[in-house]
Amino acid sequence: MRYTHRDGAIRLAAHCLETLEAHRQRTRFHRENGGQLFARYSDGVLVVEQATCVKGARSRFSFHPNRGEEQREIDALFEQGLHYVGDWHTHPEGRPTPSTPDRTKMLEIFQQSKHLLPYMLIVIVGLEPFPAGLFLGAVESGQIIELACCR
Ligand SMILES: [Zn+2]
Repeated sequence: MRYTHRDGAIRLAAHCLETLEAHRQRTRFHRENGGQLFARYSDGVLVVEQATCVKGARSRFSFHPNRGEEQREIDALFEQGLHYVGDWHTHPEGRPTPSTPDRTKMLEIFQQSKHLLPYMLIVIVGLEPFPAGLFLGAVESGQIIELACCR
């Protein structure tokens, strides 16, 4: 699925979408899943190739990943030319949107991490089929901008 942000193209590659799809909550009572997003530039397009799953303490409405494990993953994938570009998690709602804690946390991560891009990505996987059931946002200093698919 393809998106644009500030004149740049972003593509969620098949492998990444398969992982997100596989971890989608099937019902409102499934556990929340989440992890990190890794991308590389290819012909001027930011291709998000991999979504990883981070093991951490989870509950239905909150996701508290283990930051030590996440940093090891960032280092390992960097060796393969993949850059950490953001986080994803699931929500038990059809068309997901970030909660207030999601926004606060992503803006905090944006402030604290070193990154390749002038923005980071947040993906939320809802219950409906993609693209309607997938929220993609660009996290910038102080704001999260929702990106529209396939235009
Ligand atoms: Zn959330």
